[in-house]
Amino acid sequence: KPAGLTKPPWLRQRAPGGDRYEYLTSGLKDLKLATVCEEAMCPNLGECWNGDTGTATIMILGDTCTRGCRFCAVNTASTPPPPDEMEPENTAKAIAEWGVGYIVLTSVDRDDIPDGGAEHFARTVRTLKALKPEILAECLTPDFQGDEGAVKHLANSGLDVFAHNIETVERLQKRVRDPRAGYDQSLRVLRHAKATGPTGLVTKTSIMLGLGESDEEIAQTMRDCKDAGVDIFTLGQYLRPTPNHLDVMEYVTPEKFEHWKRYGEEVVGFRYVASGPLVRSSYKAGEFFIETMLR
Ligand code: SF4
Ligand code: SF4
Repeated sequence: KPAGLTKPPWLRQRAPGGDRYEYLTSGLKDLKLATVCEEAMCPNLGECWNGDTGTATIMILGDTCTRGCRFCAVNTASTPPPPDEMEPENTAKAIAEWGVGYIVLTSVDRDDIPDGGAEHFARTVRTLKALKPEILAECLTPDFQGDEGAVKHLANSGLDVFAHNIETVERLQKRVRDPRAGYDQSLRVLRHAKATGPTGLVTKTSIMLGLGESDEEIAQTMRDCKDAGVDIFTLGQYLRPTPNHLDVMEYVTPEKFEHWKRYGEEVVGFRYVASGPLVRSSYKAGEFFIETMLR
């Protein structure tokens, strides 16, 4: 780790605000809907909630993961409590009433459930689309241990975007992710979603920078994801959640993130790349989807 690595000014957070932000915040009060945006104190809350579309992320399937990645602060247990059977209906109803235009549904890894939670995701999407067909739904999924049936099932649930994060370059997978995850497995999930989902299903993945990866490794990861049919690629700075997690090896400059956006769109050929120090895979996903995918 480089000596004296201090947080650069571009990582400072802005206080959220704006009309749509106020509207969504007040709308949440009666809905019993916990957002990742608020619970993780996401620095993009203002931009995501205050956008014309309004993007938010909701976690389903509980808060306890069966895996333990070295960059992630989520609780871990080998047998988390069983999922709430009423959650898909209750969550879908609350989202439909709320007022966001684009919802990201995500979850921890549930290796303890036979289908990894694929039907739980799918049921949430189906119920939501039945209640509010115009809402755009993205699922940011675990790897389902590479279970192709689970991936196919979810890819055909009516979602608009199938997202699964490959997290880092190939060489650093073992250092960064739980040993049950892996580069090839994540690529297979993305490839399979594209191949077995409905025509035109948009797929998406994301990596963190600042873990010690080289430029050539980043470029190779982008090419591998493009080969797997990925449409949207996002890059953001890794930030250590607690002192027990992996060190930040580098704070990548905003200019370098800009470079990766241009490289990804112009050289690799992704349909869209979101890249910036505070970008997360769901960052303003609704705005970008409408601007780039529906035009
Ligand atoms: Fe919510 Fe994701 Fe936007 Fe953060 S980046 S505010 S978690 S939708
Ligand atoms: Fe965190 Fe996902 Fe890894 Fe679980 S699988 S520890 S939720 S990054």
